[in-house]
Amino acid sequence: MPVYEFECESGHVTEGLVKLGTKEVDCPKCNQKAKKIISLCAFELKGGGWYADGYSSSKK
Ligand SMILES: [Zn+2]
Repeated sequence: MPVYEFECESGHVTEGLVKLGTKEVDCPKCNQKAKKIISLCAFELKGGGWYADGYSSSKK
């Protein structure tokens, strides 16, 4: 299940599940076109997200 990140011209980053080959989506925040960020970044952020979740849940 590929998760991709998209960034619009205003710098909003959107995470989403999209079909393979999708190059851009509509930014949910400003409705501009958001372009896909390089997949390597997505892998890194995915790993970081796990850690971030662990930290935030243990803090509270
Ligand atoms: Zn936007």
